[in-house]
Amino acid sequence: MIDFHCHLDLYPDPEAAVRQADEARIYVLSVTTTPKAWRGTSALARGCGRIRTALGLHPQLAHERHSELALFEGLLPETRYVGEVGLDGTPEFRIHAAIQKRVFEAVLAISASQGGRILSIHSRRAGDEVLDCLRRHPDAGIPVLHWFSGSKAQMRRAVDQGCWFSVGPPMTRSESGRALLRDLPRDRVLTETDGPFAADNGRPLKPQDTGAMAPALASAWGMDEAAVADRLLGNLRRLSGSVQALVSDPPHAA
Ligand code: MN
Repeated sequence: MIDFHCHLDLYPDPEAAVRQADEARIYVLSVTTTPKAWRGTSALARGCGRIRTALGLHPQLAHERHSELALFEGLLPETRYVGEVGLDGTPEFRIHAAIQKRVFEAVLAISASQGGRILSIHSRRAGDEVLDCLRRHPDAGIPVLHWFSGSKAQMRRAVDQGCWFSVGPPMTRSESGRALLRDLPRDRVLTETDGPFAADNGRPLKPQDTGAMAPALASAWGMDEAAVADRLLGNLRRLSGSVQALVSDPPHAA
């Protein structure tokens, strides 16, 4: 199982969340929302070989935390993963669009200047704007659009620009979500939960919940569940090996 976008540090009991994911042998990308959170969150996963920590500056916090960009730049040599970063175009946060864009562009420029990273990207109601930023920074690394919910035209554009996609359990429930799963390039898909922010039936999702996605992906892709699991793990290996960053952490699925 793979949970390529989870906020392990934001569960009520982060140590328990890490322990359960580790015991279930799940590959987790543990994303952070601020550079200041990175030290503590990466320490949580110390000794857990399948958990990697990403350095982030969440678009919903950009207006409050933009002064942490210098810290972001100083910490980036320690990881090959960036996230959660991006843009949020929902009404509540659209008023901060200018500062969000400035922060996201800075993150992409810093990543490019340090050889590129794997980036877990938030693009809610801002798909075109995110793709515009990515096009201006082709050396930033490999973008993974997390919880992608854009239009089919945006998906085609994202594919053309080299994006990957991480998809969560609720997508398997709706017909529109299943249609998107069928259309995504299978060699650029990973699973995720966005827990504990994302919930299912009122319960915050956990990395273990990615297991429930195998049957849905198997049916969408016309493959058996074992082949889906192989495909996803192969994708993770290829992705994590694709950024030859001069950093201290090894590829995710090494
Ligand atoms: Mn998230």
